[in-house]
Amino acid sequence: MYPLCNRQCNGDDNGARDGVREGMCRHPSSYSSFDQQEEGEEGAEEDEEQVKASAEVLNVEEESFHKSKGVSPLPRTTQLVFEIQSGRAVPRLREPRHLYGVSGHLSQTLPRWPRECEVIPEEIRHIGDWHTILDHSGLISPFVSSVPHLHAFADKENYFRGSCVGSRGAVLTQAAMSLTGPEDTTLLFEARFESGNLLKATQVGEFEYELSLRSDLYTERHRQWFYFRVRNTRAGVLYHFTITNLLKAASLYEEGQQPLLYSEEKARVQAVGWHRVGQQVSYRPNGQQHANQPHYSLSWTFHFPYDQDTCYLAHCYPYTYSNLWTHLSQIEQDPRCSRFCKVRTLCRSLAGNLVPVLTVTKPSQLGDKDGSYKPAVVLTARIHPGETNSSWVMRGIVNFLLGDSPDAALLREAFVFKLVPMLNPDGVIVGNNRCSLTGRDLNRNYKSLLRESFPTVWATRTMVQRLCEERKVLLYCDLHGHSRKHNVFSYGCKNPHERIFPLMLSKNCPDMFSFESCKFKVQRSKEGTGRVAMWRLGVLNSFTLETSLCGANFGKRKGTHFSTQDFEMLGAQFCDTLLDYCDPGRTKVGPEPGAQLSVFVPWWSYLVLKTRKQKNCSPQSRKMAEVLAEGLPQDLQALYPLRMAGVGRVIKAS
Ligand SMILES: [Zn+2]
Repeated sequence: MYPLCNRQCNGDDNGARDGVREGMCRHPSSYSSFDQQEEGEEGAEEDEEQVKASAEVLNVEEESFHKSKGVSPLPRTTQLVFEIQSGRAVPRLREPRHLYGVSGHLSQTLPRWPRECEVIPEEIRHIGDWHTILDHSGLISPFVSSVPHLHAFADKENYFRGSCVGSRGAVLTQAAMSLTGPEDTTLLFEARFESGNLLKATQVGEFEYELSLRSDLYTERHRQWFYFRVRNTRAGVLYHFTITNLLKAASLYEEGQQPLLYSEEKARVQAVGWHRVGQQVSYRPNGQQHANQPHYSLSWTFHFPYDQDTCYLAHCYPYTYSNLWTHLSQIEQDPRCSRFCKVRTLCRSLAGNLVPVLTVTKPSQLGDKDGSYKPAVVLTARIHPGETNSSWVMRGIVNFLLGDSPDAALLREAFVFKLVPMLNPDGVIVGNNRCSLTGRDLNRNYKSLLRESFPTVWATRTMVQRLCEERKVLLYCDLHGHSRKHNVFSYGCKNPHERIFPLMLSKNCPDMFSFESCKFKVQRSKEGTGRVAMWRLGVLNSFTLETSLCGANFGKRKGTHFSTQDFEMLGAQFCDTLLDYCDPGRTKVGPEPGAQLSVFVPWWSYLVLKTRKQKNCSPQSRKMAEVLAEGLPQDLQALYPLRMAGVGRVIKAS
C-alpha cells in the first residue's frame, strides 16, 4: 500500500502538523504552509540578516526624519525602503530577492534525509567527480559481525515521516566491532554517506565477506545498487566478496561486467579514479528467499592496491545530489555560461530537496519578440537513482550545450532546452535503486494526480504541458541506465518517424548505440512512464535513452566497459544529432567508400542508402527503410523556415 497516504488519510492531525513544523510531510492541507515555511527557512537566513540590518538603519533614519518634520511615521514594513533625496524620504519597493539560483543559497542545496537515517559527518570526495561541497550522508549502520543483525529500521514504522539536513536527526550507532590491534586485518565497512547502500557485512573467513544490501527505503524490493567504503585494507591478499540478497534474475555480471573500485591512495599517488576490478565474477541464485522473492548472489575476488587504504566499491560510477549542485554552482558562477543557462527550482521533492531545472538558450534579442518561434527540447534524468550513468550523460549534454563550439551556439540559437537533471533526488541521497520515498517507481506515476506524493513528475508533466501550449516541443527524452542489456538504445512510442532520431544517433555513435536494440511501442504497463505521458501530450519524438551499466557487445567497443568519458561523449553526440535531425539535407558524412573524393553524400540520402544496404536486414531496419523512403517527415519540413533563416552549420568532412 501507499505508505504516506495511509497516515495522512487516517486523519492524523498530529502527523500533518509535524509535517508542517519539520517541513517534510506533504499532506494536502499542509502543502502551502510547508512551502512558505521552507522558503523562509535555512537558505533565506543570510538574506534575512541583511534585510534586518539594512531595515534597521533605514528605520532609524526614517524615524528621525519624521520626528524632525513632526509627522507620524508610516507603518513598519520590510518591503518598503526609504531613500533620502533632497532632504525627503522617498519610498520605493525593495529589489526582488535572488529567487531560486544557487549562488548565496548553498545551505538550501544541502541534502535533506529522512530523519531516521544515520549520516556520518565526513566529506566524501573522489577525483573526477568535482566534489567541492560538504557531502552529508548515510543510512543504517553497516557493521562487521559473524552474527546476523536486524535492520536498524526493523522496529520502526515503514513509511516516510519527515526529513532534516544531514546528521541533525539521528545519533550514530557504533560499529558492531572495533580493531583489536595493528595485526587485526578485519575490514571496516561504512555506507552512511550520500548514495551509500550497504546493510550488513559479515566476515566469513580472514579475507572473505558476505554482504547484504538495503532494499529501497520503505519497500522490500529493488536491491541492486551498491556503494560503500572499506578501511584497513591489506595489499597482496586476495579478498572474496559476495553480495547475497540481490533480486534480479539476470544481470550483466553474468556477461563480463565487473564492480568498480576507488582507492584513495591510488588516486593520490597515480591519479587513477574509479576503475573496474574483480576476477571470478559470478551471479547466480543462492537458494535463499524472502517474501517469495528468490535471492541471487554476486561474488568476486580482487586485490586492494595499498595497505591501510580507504577504498570504495560501487555498482556504477556514483553521481550524488551534491555532485549535481557542485556542477550547477560552477555554471552559475561562470559569467559566460550563466548568460545562456538559468538554474531555477522546478519544485521540492517529498523530503524537501530542491529539484533544479535548467533553461538553456540564446537570450532573445530586441525585435525577436519572446523567442516563442524556437522549438523546445526537454531532457530529464535520474528518475531511477541506481542508474547513475544517466547523470553522466546529462552532464555531457549540459557541458556541450554551454560550450563555445559553433554547433553549441547554433543549438542555443535554434532551441530552448529545458533540462531536469535529477528527478528523484531523495532516492539518490538515500542510496535507493529505483523508488522515491513513497516506495513507488516515479516512472510509473506520470498519470497520477497526487501532486503532493509525486511532486517531481507532476511538475515535469505540467512544465511540458505549458511548453506545448506556447511552442512546438520537438523532442522529449528521459535518460536511463540498463542493468541487463549491453549498448545504448532507445524505447519509443508508436510514431514511425520517431525512429529517425535514434537511427541518426546510431550513425553518430556507431560503437555505442545499437539501433537494432531499440523498441517502439506503447504497452499498457508503460502508460505511467514519462515517454508515454509526453507522447500523449502531443510530443511526437518522445523516448528514453537507455545506456548499459556495463558496456558494448558489438563494434570496436565490443567487450569493453563504458567510462564516464563515454557517457559524457554520448551526451555531446546526442546534441550533435539534434542538429542533424533538423538539417538532414546537409552534407555531413564523408565520401562513401569507393566513391570519388569530391562526392559527399547528404545525410538523409546516406541514411537511406545505409539502411537499404544493411546485410541481414532485421525487421527494425526494414521498417526504417520504409519510413525513410517516404522522404522527409512533416515535422522536419516544418523546421525548414528555421534553417532558411540562416541557421546553418559548419560541417567538417571527415
Ligand atoms: Zn530506468
